[in-house]
Amino acid sequence: MPIDLAAYDDANVFARILRGEIPCRKVYEDRWALAFHDIAPKAPVHVLVIPKGRYTTLAAFTAAASAEEVAGFWRAVTKVAHDLGVEGAGYRLLVNHGGDAGQEVAHLHVHIFAGRPLGPMLS
Ligand code: 5GP
Repeated sequence: MPIDLAAYDDANVFARILRGEIPCRKVYEDRWALAFHDIAPKAPVHVLVIPKGRYTTLAAFTAAASAEEVAGFWRAVTKVAHDLGVEGAGYRLLVNHGGDAGQEVAHLHVHIFAGRPLGPMLS
């Protein structure tokens, strides 16, 4: 079934992680963002960074979030990459939007992949 991005669903798994209803392996948290290890890692380092607000996608986030919130979130993404120690060797950010991209969870999340040569962008 295609993912529904029309309205925010408070029952999505990342909303439940934010509320502490589901555990996660936390990497970082601040006022704007929570970062945690992906449950099914696709690289030696695979961390997800999510905003604390109720946004289904990057488009919804940039349309509705305050400038402070947008800046705070992206600063958190780069801080997490820095703190993971992967800046030197390199890392990849990925945001899936909608069905063709394979978005499974309808709460904006940025994937951070690192820890090995990551190969071509798409395969
Ligand atoms: P998407 O395909 O939506 O861009 O990525 C969703 C990601 O969330 C997947 O990589 C998946 O492994 C991860 N994920 C799904 N459920 C959970 C969960 O309960 N905990 C954690 N830590 N990651 C999850």
